[in-house]
Amino acid sequence: MNDTDFSAHTPMMAQYLALKAQYPGTLLLYRMGDFYELFYEDAHKAARLLDITLTQRGQSAGQPVVMAGVPFHALESYLARLIRLGESVAIAEQVGEVGASKGPVERKVVRVVTPGTLTDSALLPDKAEALLLAVHQGKRAQCGLAWLSVTQGRVYLAECAQDELGGWLARIAPSELIYSAGVTQRFEQLLQQLRHSGAAACPIAPRPDWQFDSSLGERTLLQHLGAATLHAWDAQELHEAHAAAAALLHYAEHTQGRALTHIHSVQVQRSGELITLPASTVRNLELTQTLRGEDAPTLLSLLDTCMTGMGSRLLKTWLLEPRRDRQQARQRLAATAALRGAPGASAAPWSTLRGQLKGLADVERITARTALRQVRPRELVALGLTLQKAELLALSGQASEPYLAQIFSQLQPPAECTALLQAAIAPEPAALVRDGGVIASGFDAELDELRAIQTNCDGFLLELEAREKARTGIPNLRVQFNKVHGFYIEVTGSHLDKVPDDYRRRQTLKNAERFITPELKAFEDKALSAQERALQREKWLYEQVLDQLQPHVPRLTQVAQALAQLDVLCCLAERALTLGWCAPQFVPEPCIDIDAGRHPVVESRLAETSSGAFIPNHTRMHAHQRMQIITGPNMGGKSTYMRQVALIVLLASMGSHVPAASCRLGPIDAIHTRIGAADDLANAQSTFMLEMVEAAQILHAATPHSLVLMDEIGRGTSTFDGLALASSIATHLHDKTRAFTLFATHYFELTALPAQARHAVNLHVSAVENGQDIVFLHEIQAGPASRSYGIQVAKLAGMPAAVLHHARHTLAALEERSRADELQVELFAPPPAPAVQTPSAVEALLARINPDQLSPREALEALYQLKGLLPH
Ligand code: ATP
Repeated sequence: MNDTDFSAHTPMMAQYLALKAQYPGTLLLYRMGDFYELFYEDAHKAARLLDITLTQRGQSAGQPVVMAGVPFHALESYLARLIRLGESVAIAEQVGEVGASKGPVERKVVRVVTPGTLTDSALLPDKAEALLLAVHQGKRAQCGLAWLSVTQGRVYLAECAQDELGGWLARIAPSELIYSAGVTQRFEQLLQQLRHSGAAACPIAPRPDWQFDSSLGERTLLQHLGAATLHAWDAQELHEAHAAAAALLHYAEHTQGRALTHIHSVQVQRSGELITLPASTVRNLELTQTLRGEDAPTLLSLLDTCMTGMGSRLLKTWLLEPRRDRQQARQRLAATAALRGAPGASAAPWSTLRGQLKGLADVERITARTALRQVRPRELVALGLTLQKAELLALSGQASEPYLAQIFSQLQPPAECTALLQAAIAPEPAALVRDGGVIASGFDAELDELRAIQTNCDGFLLELEAREKARTGIPNLRVQFNKVHGFYIEVTGSHLDKVPDDYRRRQTLKNAERFITPELKAFEDKALSAQERALQREKWLYEQVLDQLQPHVPRLTQVAQALAQLDVLCCLAERALTLGWCAPQFVPEPCIDIDAGRHPVVESRLAETSSGAFIPNHTRMHAHQRMQIITGPNMGGKSTYMRQVALIVLLASMGSHVPAASCRLGPIDAIHTRIGAADDLANAQSTFMLEMVEAAQILHAATPHSLVLMDEIGRGTSTFDGLALASSIATHLHDKTRAFTLFATHYFELTALPAQARHAVNLHVSAVENGQDIVFLHEIQAGPASRSYGIQVAKLAGMPAAVLHHARHTLAALEERSRADELQVELFAPPPAPAVQTPSAVEALLARINPDQLSPREALEALYQLKGLLPH
């Protein structure tokens, strides 16, 4: 039996296996009566993941059939659990008539639900974006990226070098990643490594190589845009990204089971345009997740007071995609300032607008679901109501500020769309179209007539009952209806002798008999068929309404975007006011000049726990003072200070106010951080190795316009190794890289650097000693720290008294010996130039080889050549 020959199986299992073969790597839920069943491997996996029972039923192809099932009415909750666990699920429904043909009822996969292509609000939290990313391994170590959120209607394209991929993945934060099955083993390893390191902590899966076709991608994009060239989007040269887009759109359409007609726009992102935020920075600064992987407290959780899910999602994008040029940030700051209103005014514009934004439906998602024809009746009602409110907002929002004026002009929804929704959909419709009661009365004459037959039913039955009572003389005769037996006339046992001849017996009960008459039967046929026809008509009308909504999709997407932008700007205005933040000032000269800066998250946590006030600190960095060597006790506040500088720079660059009394900021192209010591066991990297890898990346990537945070570099190895490395890294950053560098260290020896390095200064966090205890002042002051207070901090941590006593004794002895030895090394003296070594013939050949550009044949030839160079 080959892979597609299922003839040895029972007809049912053959049908299942044929479907399953089309969805490898996906759990197939196969509808059988009131259950969705999983078989074989899928059943084992689902039993493990969902804690459901495995059973065995009968045999197929000589093997027992292992299965596990979930009840159909509980599908959504099981789906949500599977998707959260990173699984993809295909749902096969019965589509044929029972008994229409020999063999099992026809079944078809009607939808595929995957983590990166979710649109359903039941499966996707309001504030989360499900993003699907396709990565293409291009030529010359380049990568093509294409990503989308099915609910947004826009494809993003980018190209980057392979070593930049981690940073891109961390920023995009995909929910699902696809790549070509044809990539090299090294590239696949790189992707897996990035997944384990958390840069792309999502399911990743290969797709067939042919789907990554550049010209197919370009054609598909042009089709979506309705254009003849990609010039207008400046995307015509991005061939690697086109290849990724081809696979991306193919996969997204495959999951939705239809074309994504609502995708009408493309946006290109270029490395040089955004401020580089490597994965380590996103993680270390706890921008969207804490180091423990929780959603709060983070910068985003503090910032996000948006009134809508659309706003929250956009805010996250703004935070992770700050631009190097300040145009966009200035625009946002100007709009936020306008929303803050005049000081002392009774109601600030942001506050009134937020009142209007509250409770609005998720226009973006509902629009996408309309385009995908998956929208539910209640979502359409919510859309209709929200569009009416958007119209009011557009009318009331008189803004002279240009960005706000542009937003208000886009809020105006298409009038026909609002009118159609109001007229077509009942105000309180059933959850699903198949239940009926979805189309509003008065919208369609035929439907109204069919419904009238049902409504008039009660009147007819009462009238018939009265007539039959009079005709038969049976006083307690009743004419009724139930779903199982239809219409009937019920006569109790004591009156059965009065039953006329035209009564036909329908059912016998304990004390009564139920009858039908020709007249009642005729009525029954009419009423039941009216009900059936009304339902059919409603389904048809609903489809018509969806058809009529399609042309409005682009305008609705625009309304959604305008609402989201307004929401974020109001949120930023509110945060600025509530948290006492100031507007930053952008200047052309290189500088980071902050008065009384605060760490926003630490400050708010201190306020929440009433643990005292946050101590603000100044930061002065400019062309001639680029490096700060920061010393001071553990727990003194070094990390907090360094992070607050980075957060203020980031907030300013996204166009937010900042937690400071004032802030002047020169151009910034990247924020690099080397903080903390987390083992990356999954990638077999020790703490120290990881530390060095991250430090090396920073030394290669940083420029004079970058902000670099180095916290405790060199701590993961022996004292001398660590000190030697820390001093040479600091010297390199100062002399060669010339980035704005905050360098926190416990190596006092490094405080000698500023004496020789013109652009470096010593700072320390202050603390005062009180007997054997220590009080932290958290103030950044000029000059190096006088000592480290490690033992006092250990005491605060509850270290046993005997250990502390021992440590004090040992410390005194060590300090005594170090004074006696007078170990003096010129830490910052330039090393002698390394002896120049002539490379061997093998080394020279190896240096010329670029493995990514070799064909298999050339690789083999190179190997022979290398072997030939070995001494015989
Ligand atoms: P270590 O050297 O052990 O890493 P550190 O000097 O980096 O310590 P932080 O982790 O920055 O110290 O700060 C320790 C704690 O001190 C913070 O969690 C915070 O509660 C408090 N703290 C730091 N800075 C301030 C400040 N400016 N105002 C008030 N409290 C602060």
